[in-house]
Formats: sequence, C-alpha cells, structure tokens
Amino acid sequence: KPLIAIVGRPNVGKSMLFNRIAGKRLSIVEDTPGVTRDRLYASSDWSGREFSIVDTGGIEPTADSEILLFMREQALLAIEMADVILFVTDIETGVTAADQEIASMLLRSKKPVVLAVNKMDSIGPTNPDIYEFYALGLGDPVALSAVHGHGTGDVLDACLKYFPEETGEEEEENVVKVAVIGKPNVGKSSLINYILGENRVIVSDVAGTTRDAVDTPFENEQGRYIFIDTAGIRRRSRVDDRIEKYSVLRSEMAIERADVCLIMIDARDGVTEQDTKVAGLAHEAGKASIIVVNKWDLIEKDSNTMDHMRQEVRNALGYMTYAPVLFISAKSGQRVDRLFELINYVDNQSAMRITTGMLNNVLSDATARVQPPTDKGKRLKIYYMTQISVRPPTFVCFCNDATLFHFSYQRYLENQIRGVFGLEGTPVRLFVRER
Ligand code: GDP
Repeated sequence: KPLIAIVGRPNVGKSMLFNRIAGKRLSIVEDTPGVTRDRLYASSDWSGREFSIVDTGGIEPTADSEILLFMREQALLAIEMADVILFVTDIETGVTAADQEIASMLLRSKKPVVLAVNKMDSIGPTNPDIYEFYALGLGDPVALSAVHGHGTGDVLDACLKYFPEETGEEEEENVVKVAVIGKPNVGKSSLINYILGENRVIVSDVAGTTRDAVDTPFENEQGRYIFIDTAGIRRRSRVDDRIEKYSVLRSEMAIERADVCLIMIDARDGVTEQDTKVAGLAHEAGKASIIVVNKWDLIEKDSNTMDHMRQEVRNALGYMTYAPVLFISAKSGQRVDRLFELINYVDNQSAMRITTGMLNNVLSDATARVQPPTDKGKRLKIYYMTQISVRPPTFVCFCNDATLFHFSYQRYLENQIRGVFGLEGTPVRLFVRER
C-alpha cells in the first residue's frame, strides 16, 4: 500500500487533516489501558486506491527553539518512509522560514511532494495570498480547509497521481507477515538473526533507507513469512524522548502491516509499562499476537518459574488473555521452532469464519444459561448475531436496546464464542446494533 506522510509546522492543522482523511474508526468495544493517545497511522482509500497515512507531527515540541529540529526529524522520517509527502502550511502565517527550510529538504530528497495550504476557510480560495506559496518551489499549492473538509479531495487527488502503479499482482496469499515488536534491547534483531542463521547487515540510519529494507522474507518447512523488524533503524538524536516516541510510531506502522505480532518481553524485566503500551497497540489494531518471553536462558529456574512468569504476564496484560505465551532464547534458539507453529496457528485463527447458524446456536445456549440483563423492567433481547469480517473476527449483535447490552454481558458472550470456536491468539470485536 502506498504511504502518505504528513509533515508541517506545529498548529498548521496536520492532525485535523489526518483525522479527515483517516476517518473515524468504528469505536472499539473495550478500552486498552496504556494506550491513550491519538492515532498517528491509519489506512484508508480514495478513488478505489487503498493507502496508508501517517502523521509524523503527532508529537509537537513545546519550545519554539525546538521547532526546526523537530521539523527536520519529521521530514527525514517522511523522506525515508513515504511514497508521497504531504506538506501542510497555512494561509494565516503565510510562508515562514521553517517552511522554506523544510521545502528545500523535501526538494533535495526528490520525493513527490504535495503542498497544501490550510485554513483557507475564512479567506476565499481565490485570495492572491496563496500565490506566495509558489515560492517554495513545490508546484501548485492545494487550497484546503481541514476544519470544513473543503479541499481534502483535491489533496488526495494530487497524492494519488504520485502513487506507484498498481502492479496488478495481489499480495501473496500464503505469506504470513510477522511484526516483531518490543522495547529496545529485548532481542528483536537477535531473534530475526537466529532465524536467518546469519548476521544480517544492520540497516544504516541515513535518510533514504527504504522501509522495505527492514522486511525480511523467510521460508522453511512450516511456511513462508515476511518478518517486519522495527529495530533495524535507530535514529541519532539529541532528544531521547523523541526517539522513544518515534519508536512507538514505528511499532504502530509495523503492526498495521502485519498479520501476526510477536510481542517480545525481556524475561529479566517482566512486563514493563513500555511493554504494556506496545502490546496495547497490537490489541487495538486487532492483530493476532503471541507474547514471546525472551532471554529465558538468563533466568534461574525451578519447577514453578515458568508458571509464575506466565501468571505475571497474564495479570499485566489482562486485556489479551487470548494470546499464547512462549518462552524462548533468541540466543540459543530454544523453542524458536515452536514459534512457527504458533504463528501459523494464530494466523489461521484470526482468519476464521463462523457461519451465522453456528453463531446463533452458541447465542441461544449462552442466553439460556445466563439471562441477559434487565433495567427498569426491560430485558435485553438479542435477536441474532453475525460475523462481518475476519482479521480480527468481528461480530455484530442485533438487539432491542443497546444500552442494556452491558460490557460484562458482551464479555460473557465473547467468552462463550471463544469456548466453542477457540479463536486463540486473536482479539475479537463485537458491535451492538439496535433494530
Ligand atoms: P533489539 O533492540 O530488540 O533488536 O535487541 P537486540 O537483538 O539487539 O538484543 C539486545 C541484547 O540482548 C544483545 O546484546 C543480545 O545479544 C542480547 N540478547 C538478545 N536475546 C537474548 C537471549 O535470548 N539471551 C541472551 N542471553 N541474550 C540475548
């Protein structure tokens, strides 16, 4: 899928534009603790073309003195990853020095750039001020009002022109895309290196490195895989905090493209806050996941150690009890072969289709066993249930009154469905509709 990256100064309206283009996702039934920020990455489509979009400005600097550094980093990230860069400026401030600097970086990169001039709502699109933006040397500026949505279509039309030709060949069916995610030093590269049986060349962190460079194809008796590694590129920066934020963004992008996520945890540290965050991203994205506890060779063990650790993982990541936990050593290769069986397994589970007939058998058993909730004399009636999509399995329940369909009863139904069909390793989504 082509990737559009939005860059621009703080406050030009990048996130509003991002939300316009990404659209609001159907709200997910449950909250994930630890994931409390706006999305920076989303998939969408326009004129029949699917694409992804990333807001590289999701984390705005607070001090004015940092703005230029910040924008350079945004631009580098965009140049490195994007097929089209969407450079957003605004009519209120006009062309600023920072805009000029970024424009010349983008020009030098030779990447396709679409220049948008936002906040054109108060001023008509024929206002001559917009001509000032030709000075950036990025071609025709596109007038935009992200607040009202005017011009978003023009912006997307302009981006679409730069999308690479559709190859016609669909993504290969039987290749499983696996994202290896987790905090720095947890052993992501080590795992991939062990699997490949060689020391892979570390991807350099110069601008222009393509994101494909960290996609590693691999094939064995168990199947064909593409490993998406988020560790390959480490950016030098004076601002550590920002590296950390970008590493979250990179994880998010890897997750979005993956079929299965390997959430790596360092056995010595247990589940840290950062681990919870990364796991939460995979959960929210609806991806099949395996929790991989690494460096198991470094742990002094007795007969209960593994059970204790598993329990600790379960407690800390209470929202993903569906994910299998595997204890490995990326160094010695212990149980790495098991990993492939599990990847295939959870990948299949997340693509499971359940017929409406079977679902409704489970539904009627479940409602007979535990009566649906009532409120003020009114009882929840669930008419029927049907699966609307896979990856993750997503169900819609039609009922008389959605307000009666409490979270706990949804959870109960989910567990009943899992009890019958398994759906191991994959989150499921349940939507409630009234009729
Ligand atoms: P990444 O940042 O997640 O890619 O982590 P690396 O793969 O670079 O690993 C960080 C460090 O942990 C390196 O020194 C590895 O040799 C070490 N390491 C990774 N996995 C294991 C393991 O299973 N056992 C041991 N003992 N060390 C490991």
